Amino acid sequence: MASGHTVLMRLVASAYSIAQKAGTIVRRVIAEGDLGIVEKTSPTDLQTKADRLAQMSICSSLARKFPKLTIIGEEDLPSEEVDQELIEDGQWEEILRKPCPSQYSTIKEEDLVVWVDPLDGTKEYTEGLLDNVTVLIGIAYEGKAIAGVINQPYYNYQNNEKQKLRERRKEAKAGPGAALGRTIWGVLGLGAFGFQLKEVPAGKHIITTTRSHSNKLVTDCVTAMNPDDVLRVGGAGNKIIQLIEGKASAYVFASPGCKKWDTCAPEVILHAVGGKLTDVHGNALQYDKEVKHMNSAGVLASLRNHDYYASRVPESVKKALVP
Ligand code: AMP
Ligand code: MG
Ligand code: MG
Repeated sequence: MASGHTVLMRLVASAYSIAQKAGTIVRRVIAEGDLGIVEKTSPTDLQTKADRLAQMSICSSLARKFPKLTIIGEEDLPSEEVDQELIEDGQWEEILRKPCPSQYSTIKEEDLVVWVDPLDGTKEYTEGLLDNVTVLIGIAYEGKAIAGVINQPYYNYQNNEKQKLRERRKEAKAGPGAALGRTIWGVLGLGAFGFQLKEVPAGKHIITTTRSHSNKLVTDCVTAMNPDDVLRVGGAGNKIIQLIEGKASAYVFASPGCKKWDTCAPEVILHAVGGKLTDVHGNALQYDKEVKHMNSAGVLASLRNHDYYASRVPESVKKALVP
């Protein structure tokens, strides 16, 4: 360990810089205007040039520095030489100054599995709902999600006139896109950073769920939560950010379709601040390299009172969603 840092902390520090780079790629593709949309399994299951370039950038950058990692990315891409311009070599120094939780200090590179969603919320990305989009890099050890990075490339995106003005001023000083984006990261046993933890007022049930992948099971399950309000937004990463920033109290998705790369990084951030992410039966998700990619039994996540939400999932929904 020549650098004096553990493999895990070096990996998280690199993943932070790599996710930031992916965020700049996601913004650049929009700025250039040609999204190169490809339909994968259905009209709501899309891939764009940004998904492709960001995955190439993330996976090649990680593999170059950590050749023994297992890296599982969402997109099926031909293996070709990646343009040097896509490689990110940096590491976020602030992360290296934090202590590695002792239970992870002897982890070896070959024992880690990295789940990559280069662009979560692609459907919304193609529709201009840019603040729904995130870049997700989740790190698992012995089947458990233990560290993660979420970049939100369009955080602060033109929500109001005042922000737009502030954005233009910043950009005039520091270049295009300088005012946009943020990166959230976390390690179990250490904490989660890059945001201000906030909770929905006690007793309120605000449910966040899918915008583009709904069906009867999803709506039945949401209704059964007895919600005060329902938010329908894109992205698994985006919905977990809503939970930790006091915008929603539970993320309910009673349907297959969400995959391990959607949940790995967000789960860590949520767990690091005392929340919980499970399937609709209340079972933990597994992230070892052989596991099936689909979260077949759906997703149920909350910052507090997980038992309440789990207890309200209808039996009919549980029966329909087999792990
Ligand atoms: P959503 O909440 O609809 O944004 O979904 C969260 C994540 O799961 C996104 O990455 C979606 O692409 C994925 N997902 C959910 N349902 C489906 C589906 N039926 N087909 C393809 N991807 C899905
Ligand atoms: Mg996704
Ligand atoms: Mg994706």
